Amino acid sequence: MMTVRELYEKVVNGVIISDIELQRAIVYDAEKQALVIDSIYHGIPLPAFYLWQREDGKLEVLDGKQRIEAIKKFKQGNLLYEGKTWKAYAYDSDLQQVVDNAELTTIICSGTEEKKREIFNRINTLGVALSKFEVLNGLYHGNYIKGLNDYFAHDANVRKVLPNATVDRGENKYHLLEYLYYVHKGGVFPKRVELHDYVQRHKDESFNEEIKKIKPYISFIRDVFGDGSKIGSVLKFRLSVKYLKDRTIWQQHKDDICKECNAYIKSNDYKLSPSKEEDIEAIILGIAGHVRVDPKRLFTKEDKAQLLSTLTSTDDGLYECNQCHQHFAAEELTVDHIRPWSLGGRTVLSNAQLLCRACNSRKGNK
Ligand SMILES: [Zn+2]
Repeated sequence: MMTVRELYEKVVNGVIISDIELQRAIVYDAEKQALVIDSIYHGIPLPAFYLWQREDGKLEVLDGKQRIEAIKKFKQGNLLYEGKTWKAYAYDSDLQQVVDNAELTTIICSGTEEKKREIFNRINTLGVALSKFEVLNGLYHGNYIKGLNDYFAHDANVRKVLPNATVDRGENKYHLLEYLYYVHKGGVFPKRVELHDYVQRHKDESFNEEIKKIKPYISFIRDVFGDGSKIGSVLKFRLSVKYLKDRTIWQQHKDDICKECNAYIKSNDYKLSPSKEEDIEAIILGIAGHVRVDPKRLFTKEDKAQLLSTLTSTDDGLYECNQCHQHFAAEELTVDHIRPWSLGGRTVLSNAQLLCRACNSRKGNK
């Protein structure tokens, strides 16, 4: 992002070079130039400005020359907007202020000359629609998005969890926003419209509260998945929300988790699986739960008899449910694993408890 003032100063100081051979030939007429000013003044997002970082530190404009031309002409008094010059707006209007402080989406690319031409060609052949994030950024620019941009640019954990591609056009920031929404709603990813509403509602608020809320999840992801995991960011987000409480256990097994998951992701099973995310989740749970699963899953009648013989019954011969503490006949009680079998709890009496049917089914397959 760059304000109009910054952009203009860089153009005037020669840091941004807008007349290079690559530029497209179409020239805006005065009406179209005024429309550029009108869009800026009314907060209607302009397409992104593509700038090329040269080795000498200067920026060449790959896309946006005509828009820059319009800004330059207006600020230098050579273009009228609504019949008035830039100077004429100085006293009786907020226009100068609003225009100068308006933020423009700038994308700075770098690399080989070949890549530069390639980017330019694509911009010109495909035309560049705004990315999902650029749209949000343009529509709801305010404290909230600004805070997000800063957080994304500077937080070490975020930098690790959501690596920024050279030309990512805010895709990962968009993910982060979806994720925030997900955390807020306790596990629901937003539709596009819902995310728009959400960002719009928070537009002028500080982003700091959001940072506090997602920090533990972001560091969970970093601690567990580190740099080496091939698991996609959306799944990592989901898992972090669901299993934050198991953070320490997962962290202890992070090497195995990365190794096993990466191997699975490379495998044919993964390609064919209709339930890729669930598979990965199960793999991780297996590792984190130390599942050297006891081959014996169910307690036998003999186990139950033995357990009952160690417990005291009431005068009526009833036994206490270990969870709800009500009393039941022996037939109404089941023997349950204290540490769940699926998490490596063994089928031995030291890991056994009596539960009534209601408590047992409430416990489910946990
Ligand atoms: Zn019970």
